[in-house]
Amino acid sequence: MKHVLLAVSGPSGVGKGTMVKTIIERRSDVVESVSCTTRPPREGEVHGKHYFFLSREEFERRIQEDDFLEYDEHFGNYYGTPKSFVRETLKTKSVIMEIDVVGSLEAKKSFPECKLVMVVPPSVDELKRRLSGRGSETEEQIQGRLARMEYELSHKHLYDYIIVNDDLEKAIADLCKIIDGE
Ligand code: ADP
Ligand code: 5GP
Repeated sequence: MKHVLLAVSGPSGVGKGTMVKTIIERRSDVVESVSCTTRPPREGEVHGKHYFFLSREEFERRIQEDDFLEYDEHFGNYYGTPKSFVRETLKTKSVIMEIDVVGSLEAKKSFPECKLVMVVPPSVDELKRRLSGRGSETEEQIQGRLARMEYELSHKHLYDYIIVNDDLEKAIADLCKIIDGE
């Protein structure tokens, strides 16, 4: 069976993390891509599992060698998806990347086989409820994430698939169908 590379995007709080985590727990033929970063590990983070932690020099050397499907700088640190990890893993498993719209479009440029999936909420009110319900952001951060949503959703037309995450099990089944159908 052919293995696929999927980039899953969508507004914060829509449920991407929950969907991807559930699929990875249930299926041994799907893994999540491990990114490289120059930020120091947080307590409990493991090299090769949560991230590959690299020095700035090493990261920049790998940019020169064109080893990133996409990369970006957040809060003064580099983050990127290593082509070498993705290529090697695709020999035996499908790979899911949970990345934003900009990263997904970059990845598609350097790896055209990559399929872009956008997860959307059933309504804006429901998205607000999920963001508040998760309890991990302040009201101000929630407002920032909602503003960012408009930007993400304005790129919907560039995507290969749109999944509405209303019923979680159905959304998970939809994502599995894409993995199996590609
Ligand atoms: P994301 O990774 O897109 O930021 P999360 O996976 O953290 O979003 O989900 C945000 C919140 O919404 C979590 O509390 C999660 O349990 C909840 N959630 C996810 N999918 C659904 C759904 N279909 N219906 C109701 N709540 C959901
Ligand atoms: P954190 O430091 O909290 O783990 O991540 C900070 C930010 O970096 C998050 O917004 C996360 O989505 C982003 N990020 C993590 N990995 C990658 C990656 O491989 N590429 C890009 N472009 N962003 C990433």
